[in-house]
Amino acid sequence: MGRGRGIAVTDEQRVFRFGSDEHGNDVTEGDASMKYRLGGKGANLAEMARIGLPVPPGFTITCQTCTAYANAGNVWPEGALSEIDEAVEDLESRLGKRLGDSHDPLLVSVRSGAPFSMPGMMDTVLNLGLNDESVQGLIAQTENPRFAWDSYRRFIQMFSNVVMGVDADLFENALTQRRLVAGVRADSDLSADDLQELVIEFKEIFSENVSQTAYPELDLSNGRVQFPRDPRLQLRLAIQAVFGSWMNERACLYRKHNSISDDLGTAVNVQVMVFGNKGNTSATGVAFTRNPADGTHEFYGDFLVNAQGEDVVAGIRNTEPISDLVGIPELAAAGRQLEETFVILENHYRDMCDIEFTIEQGRLWMLQTRVGKRTAQAALKIAVDMVEEGLISREEAVSRIDPAQLDQLLHPQFDMTAKLDILARGLNASPGAAVGEIVFSSDDAVAAAEEGRSVVLVRWETNPDDLKGMTVAEGILTSHGGKTSHAAVIARGMGTPCVCGVEAFHIDAVKKEVRIEGSDHILHEGDVISIDGAQGIVVAGAVPLVSAEMTGDLDTVLSWADEIRLDTTSGRAHHVRVNADNPSDAQLALSFGAEAIGLCRTEHMFLGERKDIIQSFILSDTDTVRIHALDELLRVQTEDFLEIFRTMNGRSVVVRLIDPPLHEFLDDPRELAIEIARLEALGATEDELAEKRALLRRIDGMAESNPMLGLRGVRLSIVYPDLPLMQVRAIATAAARLIRDEGLDPKPEIMIPLVSITEEHVQTRAIAEQVLKEVEREYGVSLEIPIGTMVELPRACFVAGEIAKTSEFFCFGTNDLTQTTFGFSRDDAESKFIPIYLHKKVLDDNPFETIDETVVDLVAMAVERGRAVRPDMHFGVCGEHGGDPRSILVFFNRAGVDYVSCSPYRVPIARLCAAQAKLEAQSERDA
Ligand code: ADP
Ligand code: MG
Ligand code: MG
Repeated sequence: MGRGRGIAVTDEQRVFRFGSDEHGNDVTEGDASMKYRLGGKGANLAEMARIGLPVPPGFTITCQTCTAYANAGNVWPEGALSEIDEAVEDLESRLGKRLGDSHDPLLVSVRSGAPFSMPGMMDTVLNLGLNDESVQGLIAQTENPRFAWDSYRRFIQMFSNVVMGVDADLFENALTQRRLVAGVRADSDLSADDLQELVIEFKEIFSENVSQTAYPELDLSNGRVQFPRDPRLQLRLAIQAVFGSWMNERACLYRKHNSISDDLGTAVNVQVMVFGNKGNTSATGVAFTRNPADGTHEFYGDFLVNAQGEDVVAGIRNTEPISDLVGIPELAAAGRQLEETFVILENHYRDMCDIEFTIEQGRLWMLQTRVGKRTAQAALKIAVDMVEEGLISREEAVSRIDPAQLDQLLHPQFDMTAKLDILARGLNASPGAAVGEIVFSSDDAVAAAEEGRSVVLVRWETNPDDLKGMTVAEGILTSHGGKTSHAAVIARGMGTPCVCGVEAFHIDAVKKEVRIEGSDHILHEGDVISIDGAQGIVVAGAVPLVSAEMTGDLDTVLSWADEIRLDTTSGRAHHVRVNADNPSDAQLALSFGAEAIGLCRTEHMFLGERKDIIQSFILSDTDTVRIHALDELLRVQTEDFLEIFRTMNGRSVVVRLIDPPLHEFLDDPRELAIEIARLEALGATEDELAEKRALLRRIDGMAESNPMLGLRGVRLSIVYPDLPLMQVRAIATAAARLIRDEGLDPKPEIMIPLVSITEEHVQTRAIAEQVLKEVEREYGVSLEIPIGTMVELPRACFVAGEIAKTSEFFCFGTNDLTQTTFGFSRDDAESKFIPIYLHKKVLDDNPFETIDETVVDLVAMAVERGRAVRPDMHFGVCGEHGGDPRSILVFFNRAGVDYVSCSPYRVPIARLCAAQAKLEAQSERDA
């Protein structure tokens, strides 16, 4: 699974050289394109050497060697060790120095580097090659015994800890002890003699803590394991440790979280040491070619004079800003060269780079570079700036923005500097952060909101009755349900932060308190909590928030994305619509750049105070009551449509006819039963109870075992044609009035949901057309209202060609289509078994989040069959997947749809992804 799956390298060269030879000629064999063989670090070291930057010479052992070694149960593949020996000899002759030499020894670092940057891997070992003889050579060469002994003790310390797993504290304690004995405060004040004694002591610690059974290749003397003197053995053990670290727990966990394939392996870089700790003409540092926090075009980073390796990031000494480097006389020349190098690297990689460098006695060496990580804000600014600088094209700028990062930018976030008291974790159901007092019911949320208090609605799960409270809440938390549960879908639709499935929360809505599993902390109504729906965490108290904005750079990048996705010279346009049920969502979506409404769910208009009307329609036996209810519904729905069509003037609005099972509009029969029992206990008469009992019987009579597969969607239109009739009339009337009275250009489209049999569509359509004609006549206007099908059942996909004969468009409801293709009930699957399926790798992804290939096949088939019958037909997707980056890509490029429709807050992301899909299709065509 994940990135890098199926990368196969057959060519068996296992070692690749980089840097120059003894004549100063570059002998680099790899380049930046080879990260799957050389790892990111190795590939970029090769690339830097190739373009003439000063890189200490060395060689890279391939990732495939690591994989072969690991797969064989830690056995070296044939020929690999001798290839490494040759590379060492080659390096020795390139440098004119030998490993372990007692006059002028070659010293190297051993550095891991996987195809993707990965914390959790083995740390770097510096100064490898030192032993009791070669340390003398280092003293002779540098005429600096202190430096030499310090390098040696650092090596023993790193090697023992990193390669052999000896506890680092043992060495730190010995060092502290030594400082005390010598009466000095800093390591740098220890004398050469002190350090020489430390070396003896460190070797002693090694002998006491390494077992010979684990390392039979180590020498024994007096029954004790000796620190390895032979540099080649040191090197082999270090390389084996890097290989071994690929499968350690931390690394595996990191890969799992970041979906990086376990099959990739890591490369090992063996590189000549350069020293930033040779006095005041030496330094080491890290830098970015631009500011990675906000994108400002400036050199950004830190350095330390007279320091080695990780000292800069370890924070032991105060670093200096990179801009000061050129101001230090001894380092100015190297500093200027570094600044030139920044420019060379940016021009070469055409992106912001991060860099590690060392200055050894005034001479600059480049130790690492890669395209640097950046915040979302910086990513946008850098992309826009680089287009203006002529460094990259608009297309490249658009393809570089990470949709997930954009998602974060559009919502408020926790202040990164705040300390978090995390109470529990759940699913990251709807991004953004929120702070508020806990309330346990929708009514309490509304009451608190009316008093101007911010609340987080905490529920076991939500249902359509909670809508009011959900609307006013700053955030929503449920202890049950998955990422497509009611709470999650509604929250995403409203752009409200939501954390779902917080299982540790035991909510007692009656007592109004929450017990937290594994903690004494009890939360009460009114307690303030903070939630982060992007990370799925719940925090005690109020965390400071930083708010996001649609910056100028975001607008710019998205306007480029629009140009790309809507360009028809390069293929079908990729449109983006929005799922919106009311005028305010429509308005919001327009500001986010939606072109039209792809799904308007009319039943949401039946909730709230209108619930009584629909209830009396459903429950009454008398025609007069029912007719009256229908008239009322017609009136209010017409008003709704007037508003929405007016807001969307000139833009399509796809209105879906009533979809959910009717009992969703009725009261909970359990509550009604309790009410009856209570009245009975209070001595109510049969007469008084009769009406309630009849009601309960009717509600019970409507209950279904599998409502999701029951009387809903188009089936309602067949069984109760009055309902769709009324809805079509409302749509048509609103449109006719806007045309006649206001001179507007309303563009409704009518969509029939849950069709599986062609005849369902045909009959419903016939009724609808009838009503359209009546309204045309009544208002004296001509209405052009396309009637289409919501395709969300596998059968409909198969008979798509048939349905297309009387259908002007298809919109794929991929939630139901996924549900019915898998036979998974969405309401249960996500909480009951999908997490386990993911854990056991039965599934790679949750199919309700990222569209499954088989569902794409169904969509593609239906599009093809539809288009064959009706070439001008149009196709869209309006499920949750319409806002998921990976799904958007396949809908456009594999299924060939014309638009995706998603919740308002996902519209900017969909615009970006729709453009990226177009670019990807183009580059595939060009390839
Ligand atoms: P990481 O992947 O954690 O960044 P690196 O392999 O880059 O690990 O090494 C850690 C530190 O050691 C870096 O600061 C790097 O500059 C330094 N380093 C690595 N190799 C050498 C070398 N040959 N000479 C001098 N410093 C080195
Ligand atoms: Mg590094
Ligand atoms: Mg549906």
